Amino acid sequence: MIPVEEALEVVLREAQALPAEEVALDDALLRVLAEDVASDLDLPPFDRAAMDGYALRAADVAGAPVALEIVGEVRAGQWPDLAVGPGQAVRIMTGAPVPPGADAVQPVENTQPLDEFRVTIRSPVAQGAHVAPRGSEARAGTLLLSRGRVIDPAAVAVLASAGKPRVRVARRPVVALLVTGDEIVAVSETPAPGQIRNSNGPAVAAQARLAGATVRLLGVAPDRQDAIAEALRAGLSADVLVVSGGVSAGDYDLVEPALLGLGATFLFSKVAIKPGAPLVFGRCSGTLVFGLPGNPVSAQVTFDLFVRPALLKMQGARVLARPRVEVELATAVENRSGRKSHAPARVRFEGGRLLAWPLRSMGSGDLVAHARANALVMIEADRPQAATSETTKAVLLGNFLKNDNAPL
Ligand code: AMP
Ligand code: MG
Repeated sequence: MIPVEEALEVVLREAQALPAEEVALDDALLRVLAEDVASDLDLPPFDRAAMDGYALRAADVAGAPVALEIVGEVRAGQWPDLAVGPGQAVRIMTGAPVPPGADAVQPVENTQPLDEFRVTIRSPVAQGAHVAPRGSEARAGTLLLSRGRVIDPAAVAVLASAGKPRVRVARRPVVALLVTGDEIVAVSETPAPGQIRNSNGPAVAAQARLAGATVRLLGVAPDRQDAIAEALRAGLSADVLVVSGGVSAGDYDLVEPALLGLGATFLFSKVAIKPGAPLVFGRCSGTLVFGLPGNPVSAQVTFDLFVRPALLKMQGARVLARPRVEVELATAVENRSGRKSHAPARVRFEGGRLLAWPLRSMGSGDLVAHARANALVMIEADRPQAATSETTKAVLLGNFLKNDNAPL
């Protein structure tokens, strides 16, 4: 049994970078940027009005209220063909270029039209007010996004502004996924006595996709070594082969022998983690192989802590792990496992600190409790308990913000 951190090191050592490809910006969400991106333009590209109002000279209105002569109008999308002279103002709309001569915009709510040609500016305005100067967000040529950044919607906005209809990203890792178990039936079926619906297949596929992978489903294999080996063979051309179930110590846990028969070598086959101790990792030809324990929470947690970082590293991502924070325990957590424990919890910001409420869970099979959690409270292997009010580390799950204020 190897410690969690060591197991992760082994996994990351084996995860090799994939080549890059070019995709349309519309297809770039959650991909990992494989190029440094600079804007081809100053942002904003011109001195831009940030409010609807009047472009004017701040010095002219220092003694406001004062009346100014309206010499024209600039709308967004127009280029001003006039200048603002002393005692003058130009009606301007948000997003329009500020005409030469003007050095501030007074928002329309601080003004009062006198007649068609004059406006009263009711209060003074500071030089530069409500004007976003050309290049103030970024100068043309300066680095805006660097390689290794996961492309989120905010990055999409920057790429769009920087004139990148196509971007270089890492190729998607291909994950082949095999589910094992005689008891497993399809989601669409009503399980007969002793059977159970396949939740790991859809869940692990979803996790892989969220980590940028393309998923190739290898179906469900019964607990027979030849059948498992046969199904696994089809996954050996993938970058990563993930198998659910059949890696524990039972008589019908036949994934390891099936993999050995295909020429796999194992780098570890047990991790000091709770849940998920039976996690198996190795290589088979050029393919990374993960044998995830079948228990649904074990499968999801070990995917998140080991497979996801591997997929992200293959894509060149700079950040591989989910955020870890220090939390204060609202109630005590036990850990008699002798392994590093990851207990489902709800973390909330309360009274100036992150407070973690451990959730009642039936253990590594309790996928319902896991779906209620927004974090996993971590208790080190050598600690049998963490007391109420104690500070401990927690890993924030992908749903952290979404679930933060939802009812329990
Ligand atoms: P195993 O790791 O194969 O010993 O399975 C451990 C537990 O997880 C058993 O209770 C299985 O029924 C359950 N399990 C295994 N595979 C799945 C799956 N694909 N979906 C839901 N539960 C599963
Ligand atoms: Mg099984």
